[in-house]
Amino acid sequence: MPPTPTAKHFENKKVFVSGGSQGIGQAISHAFAREGARVAVNGRHKEKLDAFLPSLPPVSSGPHLSCPADVVDEQAVIDAIDQAFREFGDLDVLVCNAGILSESPSEDVTHGDFMKVMNVNVTGVMFCVREVLKRWLSTGKKGSIIINSSVHQIIPKPAFLAYSASKGAVGNMVKTWGLEYASRGIRVNGVAPGAILTPMNDTWANDPEKYEAVSSHIPMGRPGEPDEIAEPVLFLASEKASYITGQTLYIDGGLTLYADFSKNWSS
Ligand code: NAD
Repeated sequence: MPPTPTAKHFENKKVFVSGGSQGIGQAISHAFAREGARVAVNGRHKEKLDAFLPSLPPVSSGPHLSCPADVVDEQAVIDAIDQAFREFGDLDVLVCNAGILSESPSEDVTHGDFMKVMNVNVTGVMFCVREVLKRWLSTGKKGSIIINSSVHQIIPKPAFLAYSASKGAVGNMVKTWGLEYASRGIRVNGVAPGAILTPMNDTWANDPEKYEAVSSHIPMGRPGEPDEIAEPVLFLASEKASYITGQTLYIDGGLTLYADFSKNWSS
């Protein structure tokens, strides 16, 4: 007898992923499509999204969708979320993944650089979540939202002031939304990756000496792969996590476990 095909966990579900064509977002888009979901992939550049879509596994419920928008552009976000609801009829999951960082000694940080990071990592997340919440509340939909934060939600990152501030902020936004919408059946959670091998980290990941230096600070001895973030995102979005809201899951090879204490140096 042929083996019974394994049921896909997101068959007929519809998912929106911001910054979904590269790095961790790309892995998240692929993971949802592998599990049967139609994916609305957001990013700033339509040509890049259109080129990316055919790489996604096809699903039985219909084609995937490009939803171009810069997440800091309020009207563009409204239009992109509208487009996803119009084409898909509904959304089941929103993943706010788009994020940027910028390095500068804190005494030299410019208003422009600070606000650029805050706008993408905080305001852009707020725009996407607000637009999806409005539509879910009007229909009574019990959807799930996942925000991609960072270990720098709780670990300070010198010379990355805006990044640390922005990820601290989204940690509290996750708790606020979790509490505000729990009674309406809408769950909001975060994932907080450690060092993950994506284009954001090309500068050290492609340099063997720097790669070793980074790895030496991680209790598990290596950076993570984008799929190691994507799979927990799917878990949090799924019914398996039906009683979890307002939480941030740290996915970091032990980075947030006070890594310097891995060997006893105090007695
Ligand atoms: P990446 O730079 O490879 O990808 C970021 C994606 O976001 C890209 O597709 C980019 O086009 C998109 N994006 C950026 N600005 C945007 C905007 N204004 N509007 C729409 N899309 C925009 O980065 P990544 O490493 O995959 O990071 C994804 C998320 O994970 C970010 O929120 C980042 O802070 C977080 N994160 C990454 C790491 C890591 O080590 N890579 C660690 C912790 C947290």
